[in-house]
Amino acid sequence: MKAILFRQHGGPEVLQFTDVPDPEPRPTEVLVRVRACALNHLDLWVRGGLPNVPIPLPHIPGSDVAGEIAKIGSEVTTVRVGQKVVLAPGVTCGKCAACISGQDNRCRQFTNLGYMIDGGCAEFVRVPEVNCLSCPENLSFEQAAAIPLVFQTAWHMLIARAQLQPGEDVLVLGAGSGVGTAAIQIAKFFGARVIATAGSDEKLQKARELGADHGINHKSQKIRDEVRRITNKRGVDVVFEHVGTATWDDSLASLALAGRLVTCGATTGYDAKIDLRFLFSRQLSFMKLVAASRLKPVVDRTFPLAEAAAAHAYLESAQQFGKVVLKVL
Ligand SMILES: [Zn+2]
Repeated sequence: MKAILFRQHGGPEVLQFTDVPDPEPRPTEVLVRVRACALNHLDLWVRGGLPNVPIPLPHIPGSDVAGEIAKIGSEVTTVRVGQKVVLAPGVTCGKCAACISGQDNRCRQFTNLGYMIDGGCAEFVRVPEVNCLSCPENLSFEQAAAIPLVFQTAWHMLIARAQLQPGEDVLVLGAGSGVGTAAIQIAKFFGARVIATAGSDEKLQKARELGADHGINHKSQKIRDEVRRITNKRGVDVVFEHVGTATWDDSLASLALAGRLVTCGATTGYDAKIDLRFLFSRQLSFMKLVAASRLKPVVDRTFPLAEAAAAHAYLESAQQFGKVVLKVL
């Protein structure tokens, strides 16, 4: 099959579009014909190399996959060949106490597609049967691939960890990122008031179209001052942080008394690891909301698989609003 592969860590130029052997599914696994694979900042970290994380080389990146089942292992019973699927990125042992109690994010073998195992920037990817979710019929493959990692992360941060309540004020940093576009929609769905930040007025306009009530241009305005003004000096109940050092002080200063700050970290490799440990139960309610068009994937731009290096460079330049997706024909 054709795949995007890197043999050493480095810039986008280490990504090679090349031929590799087709993966062979084990008895409890399936082979998925990839139709689209969305990029995440994780792809950039994995490609560049992370301290104390020995990524197996050569490596195929890519965590967010939508496609069709091409082949099933001998023990697979819940999916059939030809079925359209979107893949849950978290891969675990499925057998330990953490896994069987539904806390598979605490599995000692937890990893993501494209992280410690080969991912979806290829014509085929091998995954456990339990990672297959039905692909919502109202979405293209590119839109479906734009959902899993950012929506699971934003949902877990706002709902499971911050326990967001209706009527609360939420500050969403970096509205133009994939995780920011998910956070705005989830916060609005739960009845919160959303203040979004971005580096351009054009991105703030798009954030408003997604439901944000107020916008702060962090290049021309001081986040903490604007938050104080909008909230009548009270501050916000929840800060949704993923930018890191550049916004951290403003994030803390924007919190109301007893406010909660949730972060999935975006500045260092170590923080990136924490990002991956969010629980992904396979019946997550947000998939139902996506199928009902209540939550929408935001695709900024698509590239053909062969142009993965250009797609990485584009994502690194932070011009996008929403997801950058590779299309596999
Ligand atoms: Zn386990």
